[in-house]
Amino acid sequence: MNKISVKIKITLWYTIIMLVISITALFVMLSVSREILIKESSTRLAESVNRMIPMINDPRHNIEDIPNFRFFNDGVHTAIYNDDGKLIKGFIPFEFIENVNPTNDTVQEIKYNGEEFLVYMHETMAKGNRPYQIRGVISISDEGLMLESVKKINLIMIFIFVAAAALGGYLITKNALKPVSKISDTAKNISKSKDLSQRISLGKGNDELHSLANTFDEMLDKLEDTLEKEKQFTSDASHELRTPIAVITSECEYALEYASSLDEAKESILSIKRQTDRMAKLVSELLTIARMDRKSIPLNFEKINFSELLKAVCDEQAEIHEDNIKLTRCIEPDVYAMADSALIIRLLVNLIDNAYNYGKDNGEITVSLSQNTENIICVVSDDGIGIAEENINKIWERFYRADKSRTDNGGSMGLGLSMVKWIAQCHNGNISVESKLGVGSTFTLVLPKKI
Ligand code: ADP
Repeated sequence: MNKISVKIKITLWYTIIMLVISITALFVMLSVSREILIKESSTRLAESVNRMIPMINDPRHNIEDIPNFRFFNDGVHTAIYNDDGKLIKGFIPFEFIENVNPTNDTVQEIKYNGEEFLVYMHETMAKGNRPYQIRGVISISDEGLMLESVKKINLIMIFIFVAAAALGGYLITKNALKPVSKISDTAKNISKSKDLSQRISLGKGNDELHSLANTFDEMLDKLEDTLEKEKQFTSDASHELRTPIAVITSECEYALEYASSLDEAKESILSIKRQTDRMAKLVSELLTIARMDRKSIPLNFEKINFSELLKAVCDEQAEIHEDNIKLTRCIEPDVYAMADSALIIRLLVNLIDNAYNYGKDNGEITVSLSQNTENIICVVSDDGIGIAEENINKIWERFYRADKSRTDNGGSMGLGLSMVKWIAQCHNGNISVESKLGVGSTFTLVLPKKI
């Protein structure tokens, strides 16, 4: 049964149901018609017999000489018998009538030689007070012939109608299930060719199958996008690792080949150290990202004094960056939030570190913290190089750096802001940026006080 296609199964089901309904309806109709026929024949039979009563009782004629006596009228055979059962007048062409013992004024159903009859008898007293029987017989098989024909015609009609409906239904079902074939073909093609760019593309439609196909296409869009990002990430990561490895290799070759003094060798070793530090930082960040993606970083939410944490990060950053950039704070005291302090420190360090890195000489960084009933709002703004409008959305992407020449020699890898965004999302918060090229940037972090 499982090998039969859904189209055939549906077609078979409703064909059987239609057949059963049609045939049941036909038989109900035929049995009701038969009931009506018997009722109508009985009435006719009784009327024909009763019409003869006044003729028998007419004192002007002997029974044998009744004028205009019609022994076959309106499908009813009639005959008159005396009390000895002897035929006096009329004729009934069925032998059984001699042996039948009908009850007075009652219609009886009799089967004879495979035919069905209705028999009616009326006993009456005629002249000389002699009892006479008037018998009438009507064949319902003759009348039923019409019903038989109706039955046959109807059965043929039902079979033609059901066959046409089955064919039409099959075509409609086939058409309606076309999207399913398209979905399964696309899935098969994708798994065979491993090409995620294929789509079902059923077009517009409001039915369930169109909605399934569109959801499938949307899922493929997302999968393809994720896979593309994965590929990009792997290629960017390899690229980032290749540069320090190339520097280390050439420094080693130079030192081995040309360094003639300890100082010269030390210079090469220093350069190698810088590159290994950079690689160590990159590998550590890659590990963090991998754990972020696997959602395997344990989150330790606790009530933290955000104001104190922010002050400490500002102090530390001001100390690290001995630039001529001024860091101004406007921090509301005792702002508390439910958060993971290690991740929040990482986020704040990234934002403030960027503000220094992309700030301008003698510029200013402003760090502020405020709160309302539901959220805490932390803003880090600088008056540095700013970000071009077309790049604003890209800064959250992994390995994106607007100006590589400016960042290549430092520890910048373009991974900081993607982590910032992830940390904000982990806290059900949001991070946004407003920036103008050459004017400066403002990063705003909004975190709910309670998770
Ligand atoms: P990184 O700073 O390590 O390059 P980030 O992910 O922190 O990586 O930042 C991505 C890019 O966004 C940076 O390379 C820089 O081009 C831009 N950017 C980030 N912060 C600022 C800022 N305060 N002002 C101007 N540009 C910024």
